[in-house]
Amino acid sequence: MQRPVIGVMPLWDGSRDSLWILPGYMDGIAGAGGLPLLLPLTTDEAALKQLAGICAGFLFTGGHDLSPSLYGREVSAFCGPVCEARDTMEKILFSIAVLEHHKSALGICRGIQLFNVLLGGTLYQDIPAQFTKSALSHQQQPPYNRPAHQVRIEPGSPLHEVLEAERLGVNSCHHQGIAELAPELIPMARATDGLIEGVCMKNKPFVWAVQWHPEMALDEESSRKLFRAFVAACL
Ligand code: MN
Repeated sequence: MQRPVIGVMPLWDGSRDSLWILPGYMDGIAGAGGLPLLLPLTTDEAALKQLAGICAGFLFTGGHDLSPSLYGREVSAFCGPVCEARDTMEKILFSIAVLEHHKSALGICRGIQLFNVLLGGTLYQDIPAQFTKSALSHQQQPPYNRPAHQVRIEPGSPLHEVLEAERLGVNSCHHQGIAELAPELIPMARATDGLIEGVCMKNKPFVWAVQWHPEMALDEESSRKLFRAFVAACL
Protein backbone atom coordinates (compact mmCIF):
# COMPACT_ATOMS: atom_id res chain seq x y z
CA MET A 1 0.00 0.00 0.00
CA GLN A 2 1.19 3.51 -0.79
CA ARG A 3 2.11 5.57 2.24
CA PRO A 4 0.23 8.86 2.65
CA VAL A 5 2.35 11.88 1.71
CA ILE A 6 2.33 14.42 4.52
CA GLY A 7 3.52 17.97 3.89
CA VAL A 8 5.72 19.36 6.66
CA MET A 9 6.06 23.12 7.25
CA PRO A 10 9.72 24.11 7.07
CA LEU A 11 11.44 25.91 9.94
CA TRP A 12 13.15 29.21 9.22
CA ASP A 13 16.53 30.36 10.54
CA GLY A 14 16.74 34.10 9.92
CA SER A 15 20.35 34.39 11.07
CA ARG A 16 21.48 31.95 8.36
CA ASP A 17 18.77 32.81 5.83
CA SER A 18 18.04 29.07 5.78
CA LEU A 19 15.28 26.50 5.93
CA TRP A 20 15.70 23.62 8.35
CA ILE A 21 13.77 20.88 10.12
CA LEU A 22 14.00 18.94 13.37
CA PRO A 23 14.37 15.25 12.42
CA GLY A 24 11.71 14.28 14.98
CA TYR A 25 8.93 15.76 12.83
CA MET A 26 9.96 13.59 9.88
CA ASP A 27 10.73 10.54 12.04
CA GLY A 28 7.41 10.81 13.88
CA ILE A 29 5.51 10.67 10.57
CA ALA A 30 7.74 8.00 8.99
CA GLY A 31 7.62 5.84 12.12
CA ALA A 32 3.82 5.94 11.99
CA GLY A 33 3.75 4.80 8.35
CA GLY A 34 3.56 8.14 6.54
CA LEU A 35 5.84 9.64 3.91
CA PRO A 36 6.96 13.07 5.16
CA LEU A 37 7.62 15.74 2.53
CA LEU A 38 9.40 18.91 3.66
CA LEU A 39 7.65 21.80 1.93
CA PRO A 40 9.27 24.85 0.35
CA LEU A 41 8.77 28.18 2.09
CA THR A 42 6.53 29.87 -0.43
CA THR A 43 3.62 32.29 -0.48
CA ASP A 44 2.79 31.46 -4.12
CA GLU A 45 -0.89 30.59 -4.00
CA ALA A 46 -0.84 28.44 -7.13
CA ALA A 47 2.07 26.42 -5.75
CA LEU A 48 0.31 25.95 -2.42
CA LYS A 49 -2.88 24.88 -4.19
CA GLN A 50 -0.91 22.24 -6.07
CA LEU A 51 0.78 21.06 -2.86
CA ALA A 52 -2.63 20.86 -1.20
CA GLY A 53 -3.61 18.39 -3.92
CA ILE A 54 -0.40 16.32 -3.65
CA CYS A 55 -0.43 15.86 0.13
CA ALA A 56 -2.92 13.78 2.09
CA GLY A 57 -2.25 15.77 5.25
CA PHE A 58 -0.16 18.56 6.72
CA LEU A 59 2.01 18.94 9.78
CA PHE A 60 2.07 22.52 11.07
CA THR A 61 5.36 22.62 12.96
CA GLY A 62 6.72 24.77 15.79
CA GLY A 63 8.79 27.90 15.23
CA HIS A 64 8.54 31.65 15.35
CA ASP A 65 5.86 33.59 17.21
CA LEU A 66 2.81 34.38 15.10
CA SER A 67 2.32 37.98 14.07
CA PRO A 68 -0.27 39.52 16.44
CA SER A 69 -1.82 41.17 13.34
CA LEU A 70 -3.29 37.70 12.63
CA TYR A 71 -5.53 38.17 15.67
CA GLY A 72 -5.97 41.91 15.45
CA ARG A 73 -3.58 42.96 18.20
CA GLU A 74 -0.65 45.34 18.39
CA VAL A 75 2.77 43.77 18.90
CA SER A 76 3.60 43.86 22.61
CA ALA A 77 7.12 44.31 23.96
CA PHE A 78 7.09 40.63 24.97
CA CYS A 79 6.36 39.19 21.53
CA GLY A 80 9.31 37.35 19.96
CA PRO A 81 10.52 37.54 16.35
CA VAL A 82 8.00 36.57 13.67
CA CYS A 83 8.35 34.97 10.22
CA GLU A 84 5.92 36.70 7.90
CA ALA A 85 6.52 34.26 5.03
CA ARG A 86 5.52 31.30 7.22
CA ASP A 87 2.50 33.18 8.56
CA THR A 88 1.29 33.88 5.01
CA MET A 89 2.07 30.42 3.65
CA GLU A 90 0.37 28.61 6.54
CA LYS A 91 -2.69 30.86 6.40
CA ILE A 92 -3.16 30.07 2.70
CA LEU A 93 -2.49 26.35 3.14
CA PHE A 94 -4.83 26.05 6.11
CA SER A 95 -7.56 27.78 4.16
CA ILE A 96 -7.20 25.72 0.98
CA ALA A 97 -6.16 22.30 2.29
CA VAL A 98 -7.91 22.12 5.64
CA LEU A 99 -10.97 24.36 5.36
CA GLU A 100 -11.83 23.78 1.68
CA HIS A 101 -10.53 20.26 1.03
CA HIS A 102 -10.92 18.76 4.54
CA LYS A 103 -7.36 17.40 4.58
CA SER A 104 -6.06 16.10 7.89
CA ALA A 105 -3.77 18.36 9.89
CA LEU A 106 -1.70 18.14 13.04
CA GLY A 107 -0.47 21.32 14.69
CA ILE A 108 2.42 21.33 17.14
CA CYS A 109 3.30 24.28 19.41
CA ARG A 110 3.14 27.20 16.96
CA GLY A 111 0.66 24.95 15.11
CA ILE A 112 -1.97 25.00 17.88
CA GLN A 113 -1.56 28.77 18.13
CA LEU A 114 -1.90 29.09 14.35
CA PHE A 115 -5.15 27.07 14.17
CA ASN A 116 -6.56 29.12 17.04
CA VAL A 117 -5.86 32.53 15.53
CA LEU A 118 -6.88 31.53 11.98
CA LEU A 119 -10.23 30.42 13.41
CA GLY A 120 -10.79 33.62 15.37
CA GLY A 121 -9.05 33.08 18.72
CA THR A 122 -6.32 35.12 20.43
CA LEU A 123 -2.98 34.41 22.11
CA TYR A 124 -1.03 35.47 25.14
CA GLN A 125 1.98 37.14 23.52
CA ASP A 126 3.98 36.12 26.58
CA ILE A 127 2.71 33.73 29.25
CA PRO A 128 4.84 35.03 32.17
CA ALA A 129 3.79 38.63 31.41
CA GLN A 130 0.13 38.11 30.49
CA PHE A 131 -1.07 34.87 32.10
CA THR A 132 0.17 35.82 35.52
CA LYS A 133 -2.09 33.47 37.46
CA SER A 134 -0.02 30.57 36.14
CA ALA A 135 2.46 29.10 38.57
CA LEU A 136 3.85 26.73 35.93
CA SER A 137 7.00 27.17 33.92
CA HIS A 138 6.11 26.52 30.27
CA GLN A 139 9.66 27.06 29.03
CA GLN A 140 11.81 24.17 30.18
CA GLN A 141 15.55 23.68 29.94
CA PRO A 142 16.93 20.75 27.90
CA PRO A 143 16.67 17.80 27.65
CA TYR A 144 13.32 18.29 25.93
CA ASN A 145 12.26 14.65 25.96
CA ARG A 146 11.42 14.96 29.68
CA PRO A 147 8.02 16.06 30.98
CA ALA A 148 7.93 19.63 32.33
CA HIS A 149 4.31 19.69 33.52
CA GLN A 150 1.13 17.65 33.43
CA VAL A 151 -1.93 18.04 31.25
CA ARG A 152 -5.43 16.76 31.99
CA ILE A 153 -6.99 15.04 29.01
CA GLU A 154 -10.72 15.74 28.59
CA PRO A 155 -12.62 12.49 29.26
CA GLY A 156 -14.45 11.32 26.14
CA SER A 157 -12.37 13.52 23.81
CA PRO A 158 -10.76 11.94 20.73
CA LEU A 159 -7.36 12.47 22.37
CA HIS A 160 -8.55 10.52 25.40
CA GLU A 161 -9.60 7.68 23.10
CA VAL A 162 -6.17 7.60 21.46
CA LEU A 163 -4.01 7.99 24.57
CA GLU A 164 -6.28 6.05 26.96
CA ALA A 165 -5.13 8.30 29.82
CA GLU A 166 -6.60 11.22 31.75
CA ARG A 167 -3.27 12.75 32.72
CA LEU A 168 -0.08 13.04 30.75
CA GLY A 169 3.33 14.49 31.53
CA VAL A 170 4.39 16.72 28.61
CA ASN A 171 7.40 18.78 27.66
CA SER A 172 6.92 22.53 27.35
CA CYS A 173 8.93 24.95 25.18
CA HIS A 174 6.59 27.86 24.59
CA HIS A 175 6.19 31.38 25.92
CA GLN A 176 2.94 32.05 24.06
CA GLY A 177 -0.37 30.21 24.39
CA ILE A 178 -4.10 30.25 23.74
CA ALA A 179 -5.92 33.13 25.46
CA GLU A 180 -9.43 33.14 23.91
CA LEU A 181 -10.24 29.84 22.23
CA ALA A 182 -11.64 29.95 18.68
CA PRO A 183 -15.34 28.94 18.56
CA GLU A 184 -14.67 26.04 16.20
CA LEU A 185 -12.03 24.44 18.42
CA ILE A 186 -12.81 21.97 21.19
CA PRO A 187 -10.39 21.69 24.13
CA MET A 188 -8.90 18.20 24.54
CA ALA A 189 -6.12 18.88 27.07
CA ARG A 190 -5.35 21.55 29.66
CA ALA A 191 -2.25 22.21 31.73
CA THR A 192 -2.82 22.21 35.48
CA ASP A 193 -2.84 26.05 35.41
CA GLY A 194 -5.80 25.92 33.00
CA LEU A 195 -3.92 26.75 29.80
CA ILE A 196 -5.44 24.91 26.82
CA GLU A 197 -2.74 22.64 25.38
CA GLY A 198 -4.71 20.27 23.13
CA VAL A 199 -7.58 20.99 20.71
CA CYS A 200 -9.49 19.51 17.80
CA MET A 201 -11.66 21.24 15.23
CA LYS A 202 -15.40 20.64 15.11
CA ASN A 203 -16.85 18.90 12.07
CA LYS A 204 -13.51 17.90 10.56
CA PRO A 205 -12.17 14.35 10.29
CA PHE A 206 -8.80 15.17 11.88
CA VAL A 207 -7.65 18.69 12.68
CA TRP A 208 -5.82 18.28 15.96
CA ALA A 209 -3.18 20.34 17.67
CA VAL A 210 -1.07 20.18 20.81
CA GLN A 211 1.04 22.76 22.59
CA TRP A 212 3.73 20.25 23.59
CA HIS A 213 6.38 18.65 21.37
CA PRO A 214 5.80 14.93 20.65
CA GLU A 215 8.53 15.13 17.96
CA MET A 216 11.09 15.76 20.72
CA ALA A 217 9.89 12.80 22.79
CA LEU A 218 9.45 9.95 20.32
CA ASP A 219 10.72 7.57 23.01
CA GLU A 220 7.33 8.15 24.71
CA GLU A 221 4.50 5.86 23.58
CA SER A 222 2.05 8.79 23.89
CA SER A 223 4.03 10.71 21.23
CA ARG A 224 4.02 7.75 18.87
CA LYS A 225 0.28 7.20 19.43
CA LEU A 226 -0.37 10.80 18.41
CA PHE A 227 1.61 10.47 15.17
CA ARG A 228 -0.08 7.12 14.45
CA ALA A 229 -3.54 8.68 14.88
CA PHE A 230 -2.57 11.51 12.51
CA VAL A 231 -1.11 9.26 9.81
CA ALA A 232 -4.10 6.88 10.05
CA ALA A 233 -6.38 9.86 9.44
CA CYS A 234 -4.40 10.64 6.25
CA LEU A 235 -4.98 7.21 4.70
MN1 MN B 1 3.16 24.02 28.44
